[in-house]
Amino acid sequence: MTQTGKLVFLGTGGSAGVPMIACSCATCLSQDIKNKRLRSSVLLEIKGKTLLIDAGPDFRAQALAYHLKKLDGILLTHTHFDHVSGLDELRAFYVLHGHVLPVLVSKQTLHTLKKRYDYLFEERQDGANLTAQLEFHLLKSEWGCTQFCGLPVHYVSYQQAGVPVNGFRFGSLAYLTDIKEISHEVIDALAGVEVLVMSALREKPSKMHLTFQEAMTLAQKIGAQQTYFTHIGHETEHHAINDRLPKGYALAYDGLQISFKL
Ligand SMILES: [Zn+2]
Ligand SMILES: [Zn+2]
Repeated sequence: MTQTGKLVFLGTGGSAGVPMIACSCATCLSQDIKNKRLRSSVLLEIKGKTLLIDAGPDFRAQALAYHLKKLDGILLTHTHFDHVSGLDELRAFYVLHGHVLPVLVSKQTLHTLKKRYDYLFEERQDGANLTAQLEFHLLKSEWGCTQFCGLPVHYVSYQQAGVPVNGFRFGSLAYLTDIKEISHEVIDALAGVEVLVMSALREKPSKMHLTFQEAMTLAQKIGAQQTYFTHIGHETEHHAINDRLPKGYALAYDGLQISFKL
């Protein structure tokens, strides 16, 4: 029997989220739930393990909305605010369960986290659990496969405006967020991916992100059968774009669940 994994989109918004603070554009004013986007993050359920990719500023709201009771591990793609600023909220799991959470990161991500969240690296005081208790596991190279939480995790590296970012692959699914430039090696490493989750901000060009058109070109090179776009900005009204996308492409939305072959 083929084993399957499940992915839940906890958030599909760009760095500002949708609605964006103080904005009164049509998307930000829309009452359609597909136009409400928390910051991008996904929950994965694989062989009884629950993994989180990225913990942004909406993590608390996401954990409450999706009744998240346990986490086995966290994977961080990179250190931009919209992907890591919810790390402190992971403290709740230590308060309740008393065990340290493993976090998978690159060497560069760890280096930046140490500077920005120095208190997360201070030695634990007896009986005090004032901060999230995290145990960092390092990716040993730019791409390859590692064991994390007892599961094989394939990973790749790319750049977003000078910041190193990691993409992750589990069986037939790959999650590539905040992608702007990609090398042939990464495309080769993703051969065989059937379900691709990839960031694409909007139709108009952006210095930091791919447009939907650029993202489709990249998805074709990777050869995925189905691609879901995430990390979507407020310039994008869900139905106006989603209804026009060719077969095999769709905009993700908060709460969408998909399954994939392991
Ligand atoms: Zn981002
Ligand atoms: Zn807006």
